[in-house]
Amino acid sequence: MSTKEILKESIPFKNPKEAVFTGNGWFVVGQSAGKKDIMAKKLEAEKSKRKVLLIGGVHGNETEGVRFMVDFCKEFAKDEQKSPFDFGLYLLPLLNPDGFFKYERKNAAGIDLNRNMSTKDWAEEYTEEKYNPGKYPGSEPESQILEQVVNMYKPNYIISFHSWKPLININGPAEPFAEKMKNKLKMKIVKDIGYPTPGSLGTYAGWERNIPTITLEFERGMKLEEVYRYAKEGVLDSFTVL
Ligand SMILES: [Zn+2]
Repeated sequence: MSTKEILKESIPFKNPKEAVFTGNGWFVVGQSAGKKDIMAKKLEAEKSKRKVLLIGGVHGNETEGVRFMVDFCKEFAKDEQKSPFDFGLYLLPLLNPDGFFKYERKNAAGIDLNRNMSTKDWAEEYTEEKYNPGKYPGSEPESQILEQVVNMYKPNYIISFHSWKPLININGPAEPFAEKMKNKLKMKIVKDIGYPTPGSLGTYAGWERNIPTITLEFERGMKLEEVYRYAKEGVLDSFTVL
């Protein structure tokens, strides 16, 4: 399938300001390296102080995760301000619009955003160009935005939606959340994906800030219209641990 076909099938818009990421409480949280707007939405819970951060499209070619976020937002982020759950929500459906609109992993500067976070283990060496971690930790605007959201919003639980081979990668105290998810998703839970990932969100938020963080890897190439149906119940179940 061509990039164009994949994009056409994956997302009902050509610009992140269109479709679900416009009006109705959506705001521009910052701009990408390629000067594209990064959209966000914050929904407050009436009483609870618990908060969840959901992220899609850190890697631009992992459209499965963006599609999950689009469908999730359509169902649960209709209101301008109010969360439909008993916890608050911060939604970042497409962190890497540069990569997404080119169907590429990295941002416009050629940096892997999941190797660029300001972690203690950030490393300048890399094995393959697709893992280019940037010139210094947190060098990319997308990483700065994500770090700011984590530090200011202080979520109690984070899920970042990716695609590769199906697995639930946990960082920090995320095991109970992952166990709930696993029952419905039938994926295995791993603490380690098999190779080092310095500068990742999992390390930044999970291990260094003790926030339960899940990197949910959908099967790359799965039918995009099936992603949400497949994962919704498992994701919702994991919220019950909060
Ligand atoms: Zn990824």
